[in-house]
Amino acid sequence: MSKQQLAVERARRAFRTGRSKPLEYRIQQLKNLERLFVERKKEIAGALKKDLNKSEHGTPLYETLGLEGEIQLAVRKLKEWAAPRPVSKNLLTLSDEVYIKPEPLGVVLIIGAWNYPWAVTIQPLIGAIAAGNAAVIKPSEVSAHTAKLMEDLLPLYVDKELYPVVTGGVPETQELLKQRFDHVFYTGNCAVGKIVMEAASHHLTPVTLELGGKSPCYIDKNCNLTIACRRIAWGKYTNCGQTCIAPDYILCDPSIQDRVIQEITKSVQEFYTENPKTCPDYGRIINQRHFKRIMAMAEDSTVAMGGDNDEAECYIAPTVLRDVKPEAKVMQEEIFGPLLPILTVDSVDSAIEFINDREKPLALYVFSSDNKLIKRVVDETSSGGFLANDCLVHFSVNDLPFGGVGNSGIGAYHGKFSFDQLSHLRGCLIKQLKMEGVNNMRYPPHTADKLGWARFFILKHVPVVRTFKLAALAMLVVIAAAIIQRILD
Ligand code: NAD
Repeated sequence: MSKQQLAVERARRAFRTGRSKPLEYRIQQLKNLERLFVERKKEIAGALKKDLNKSEHGTPLYETLGLEGEIQLAVRKLKEWAAPRPVSKNLLTLSDEVYIKPEPLGVVLIIGAWNYPWAVTIQPLIGAIAAGNAAVIKPSEVSAHTAKLMEDLLPLYVDKELYPVVTGGVPETQELLKQRFDHVFYTGNCAVGKIVMEAASHHLTPVTLELGGKSPCYIDKNCNLTIACRRIAWGKYTNCGQTCIAPDYILCDPSIQDRVIQEITKSVQEFYTENPKTCPDYGRIINQRHFKRIMAMAEDSTVAMGGDNDEAECYIAPTVLRDVKPEAKVMQEEIFGPLLPILTVDSVDSAIEFINDREKPLALYVFSSDNKLIKRVVDETSSGGFLANDCLVHFSVNDLPFGGVGNSGIGAYHGKFSFDQLSHLRGCLIKQLKMEGVNNMRYPPHTADKLGWARFFILKHVPVVRTFKLAALAMLVVIAAAIIQRILD
């Protein structure tokens, strides 16, 4: 039996003991996980420094603070999320118990990516634990130091049989994907997303695919360009552009292009000094393969800011490309690096058309002080998430579902959405063996009369409100049942 098979087997066996189900157990595991982030700050930051040159204070801000917030929310709300959810009734179900019961799916496979390796791997785990599942965790091998640390630390804090960490690269992930899971939660690029979905289809396993793509950013002429460009520069160059929801490219009127370049340059200097290479808050490209991929993208465009690079150090300076054509290399795939192309469009209509001509993005950004224009863009486009007058921060609102649409992904998570995504929402109807008279209308022989009654009973909806209303309706049902019984006898 392979290492991967063994881990899945063990997780399934542990799940079958039922110990992941009691709410107290889930809460305990979540609190233990939170402790990991408090007690192991230094080791986490150290590994991320080696993997991506992340700074000591940047690490908690972008990686673990959100996880602590998610855990605290889940601990606070779990009882409410896991409780049976009553639904509205019709006359036929008035005296029954009708509710949705969230139940664990079983064993979830979580495949993480390398760019925010803790955030994107542990956030789904929080949902999996909260929902009462077991989970096999496969961190990305690309952020190798963090993967090793996760493998070492997680078993010290959470149940190692229920939530094993399995490390490895492509062959190990593919071996895992051959196993039967109850859900696969994958974060990474679209091409591998298809491989994951195909593998999952062999067992009819549902998937969540948190993918990427080119997230557009439209800047309206009528907005405060200083503030807009500051926020865009932050959204783009954080983690060296290796953020799934980084603004990928800018669309703006030709008349403001020079100002946009000026303002972004000013912000970059303010954030990362004149020489970002020596600034502790400016990251590195994950490896040389990605370095080469990104550098090749800039080849046929004009550099307006930055452009410096150093292959040995995987360093690419914050860069802006101007007057970029839609056919340029940089516009053919997600950049996932610190290049920011500007494409000029003559109106918001052209921007909307440009966006709608392409795959649905993971995020869509609009900067404008005109609320009507903002609403128009919301109404006339589609994307995983939408954010006006800022970048990235919608990720941190755990009341908003986070996920893609179309090419940018399937499913959504964060907060209660994670809980629901990794639960089976089981429809439950509990009847009594009484009031058989009402059922006569559905039994053969079928007649026009019976159909008429069925129509009345089925289509009449009763919101679950005040008890006296319920009681009145219950009486109505009893009377109706008695009448029908007499008619049909
Ligand atoms: P990656 O290379 O770390 O791959 C992700 C995972 O897939 C890894 O665990 C890896 O082992 C596995 N994998 C890679 N190739 C595989 C194969 N052939 N078969 C089976 N498994 C395989 O990460 P990446 O794909 O380079 O990540 C960057 C992409 O992820 C970007 O497109 C980015 O936008 C996207 N992303 C999306 C989100 C989100 O929340 N939507 C978050 C982070 C990253």
